[in-house]
Amino acid sequence: MNAITLLGATGSIGASTLDVIARHPERFTLHAVTASRSVEPLAGICARFRPRYAVVSDPQRLPALRQALAAAGAPTVALGGPEALAEVACAPECDTVVAAIVGAAGLVPTLAAARAGKRLLLANKEAVVCAGRLLIDAVRAGGGQLLPVDSEHSAIHQCLAGAQIAGRDVRRLILTASGGPFRGRTDFSGITPEQAVAHPNWTMGRKISVDSATLMNKGLEVIEASWLFGFAPERIDVVVHPQSVIHSMVEFADGSVVAQLGTPDMRTPIAYALAYPERIDSGAASLDFTRLGSLTFEAPDPRRFRCLALAYEALRAGTARTAALNAANEVAVEAFLEERLAFAEIAAVIEETLAAVAAPEPQTVEAVLAIDADARRLARRLVAGRCQASSEAQR
Ligand code: NDP
Repeated sequence: MNAITLLGATGSIGASTLDVIARHPERFTLHAVTASRSVEPLAGICARFRPRYAVVSDPQRLPALRQALAAAGAPTVALGGPEALAEVACAPECDTVVAAIVGAAGLVPTLAAARAGKRLLLANKEAVVCAGRLLIDAVRAGGGQLLPVDSEHSAIHQCLAGAQIAGRDVRRLILTASGGPFRGRTDFSGITPEQAVAHPNWTMGRKISVDSATLMNKGLEVIEASWLFGFAPERIDVVVHPQSVIHSMVEFADGSVVAQLGTPDMRTPIAYALAYPERIDSGAASLDFTRLGSLTFEAPDPRRFRCLALAYEALRAGTARTAALNAANEVAVEAFLEERLAFAEIAAVIEETLAAVAAPEPQTVEAVLAIDADARRLARRLVAGRCQASSEAQR
């Protein structure tokens, strides 16, 4: 039995992970599940899966969680506060941690799991974008294993099987991008949050859906791929592939390109990571090649999708920049979702934040968190300035 702590159980990745776990009761059991504030859904999960612990990171929600667990008849112990996230992520009874919290909020428990030598299934790309080498070193020092959940990185992991990466077998990694809901659009004015989160191929949480619409998601993935597989930015390319059937590719030294294909369903990479190196049923539908039609490819347009270029620039500049990029993006996306910032201004807020942040390379998690806090402060000021300017223009 593999005992799992599922960080971010009430989210989209959380739901897909629970679906795969439910298909294999003989293999997996839940040690702990966590959420930020969603107590009712968390209690529902506990009634069904009966984990030992349920955690809400917002301590004020702890009494409500206790009540909801009692009402649902779940035999689960309720815990509250951010420290409890790290506690259940490194508990000795837990073998595997699925890191599926959204944003930099997932960094500390993800690092705790890495240091404790857990098998770490990483969906929370923002953790590696913020911490870079610190996370990779923590996995090494802890003696555990890091497996990607992001479909692109799972695809690359599968394509690289057996390759001597250090031996220069590989020419480049090719990440595919759907292009998001605004792939063909030239005018980004007047975009609403509902339009931005309506992804053509994937159903995901709201933050990553907006990131997909700006192509920042692909930028974060380039940074993630660089750390997970040890490739310089020059050896990581992005190609827009609107059908999302090829999840990513590896080009080898001899010119061969190996691709991983499948229906766009996150249960596939989750099942791959949960059972690795074995293969188990994920519930994903088979790919019907006779109904696929054509698979198409195009280059991303860096002028319309500035966020992708900003991510490459930050990766070249180091972890202080990627941490600031991530923080500014989180602030800008939240402001857009709350209708305080126009979609077209997300990239500008990030770019201006990066221009003003000057921090040395972080050597500790505390230094990363300080960069994150500084960049957030700056980005919030920039958003507020834009809010004020636009309400004055309307008067
Ligand atoms: P969701 O928004 O659907 O879920 C986020 C989860 O994190 C929820 O359980 C939420 O709890 C919890 N959470 C939010 N804020 C905090 C916080 N401050 N502290 C602790 N917990 C918090 O996100 P997704 O499932 O879409 O994405 C999760 C991660 O996986 C992201 O990093 C994303 O980039 C990555 N990913 C997602 C994919 C997808 O298909 N969705 C694909 C590839 C990667 P609550 O419900 O209480 O708010």
